[in-house]
Amino acid sequence: MTDPVAALSGLLGGKGWLSGDDTAPYRRDWLDRYGVAPLGVARPATTAEVAGVVRICREAGIALVPQGGNAGLCAAAVADRQDSVILSLARMNAIGAPDRDSGTILVEAGVVLAALHEALEPHGLIFPLHLGAEGSARIGGLVGTNAGGSHASRYGMMSDLVLGLEVVLPDGASGTACAPCRRTMRVIRCAGCSAARRARSAW
Ligand SMILES: Cc1cc2nc3c(=O)[nH]c(=O)nc-3n(C[C@H](O)[C@H](O)[C@H](O)COP(=O)(O)OP(=O)(O)OC[C@H]3O[C@@H](n4cnc5c(N)ncnc54)[C@H](O)[C@@H]3O)c2cc1C
Repeated sequence: MTDPVAALSGLLGGKGWLSGDDTAPYRRDWLDRYGVAPLGVARPATTAEVAGVVRICREAGIALVPQGGNAGLCAAAVADRQDSVILSLARMNAIGAPDRDSGTILVEAGVVLAALHEALEPHGLIFPLHLGAEGSARIGGLVGTNAGGSHASRYGMMSDLVLGLEVVLPDGASGTACAPCRRTMRVIRCAGCSAARRARSAW
C-alpha cells in the first residue's frame, strides 16, 4: 500500500499539504485547551482534491478532522490523536455573484462570514447571520454547527439560511443535498445561501 502521507503530499503539493511545525496554527482549539500535532494539515483547493484526501485517509484508516475557522469553542475542529489529518477548507474561499432576483448566492465552504457580509454590501443585500467570531468562522463550520447568533430570532439559524450543499461523502464521492440537511459524516464543499435585501428601516 502507498504511504498515505506521500500520497497526500503528492496530491496537494506544497501549498496544500503542511507537516511538522507548519501545522502549528491549526493544532489548538480557540481557547488553547485541546489539540495535538496531527500527521499533517490538508488544504485542498478543489472538490476533486477534497475527495482525494477523503479517499486516501479512508483507505489508510486515518481520522480526518474538518476545520473551518476553528472558532467553535468545543474543540471539535482539532485533532485529539496524532495519527489524524486536519482538513482545512480555508483555501476554498470563492464567493459567487449574488442573484438579486432570487436572493441567493453560491459560496465555498472556506469563506469567512465577514467576507460574505462585505461581498454582499455593494449589492444592497445582507446575509443575516452575525456572531462575535464572524471574522474567523467559515461557512462550512457555520453549517456544521448550525450557528445562530444575534439575528437568529428574526432571520433563523444557519440551517434556515442554507438552500443546498455540495458535499464529499466518506467514500470520496461528491454530491448535492438540499436543505434541511443534517450533517453526518460529510465534508461541506460549498453552500448555496439565501441573502435578504437590506431592510430600509432600522429594527
Ligand atoms: C467570540 C465568539 C462568539 C461566538 N458566538 C456564537 C453565537 O452567537 N452563536 C453560535 O451559534 N456560535 C457562536 N460561536 C461559536 C462559533 O463561532 C460557531 O460555532 C461557528 O459556527 C464556528 O465556525 P468555524 O468555521 O470556526 O467552525 P470550526 O470550529 O472550524 O468547526 C466547527 C465544527 O464544524 C466542522 N466543520 C468545519 N468545517 C466543515 C466542513 N467544511 N464540512 C464539514 N464539517 C465542518 C468541524 O469539524 C467542527 O466539528 C462563537 C464563537 C466565538 C469565538
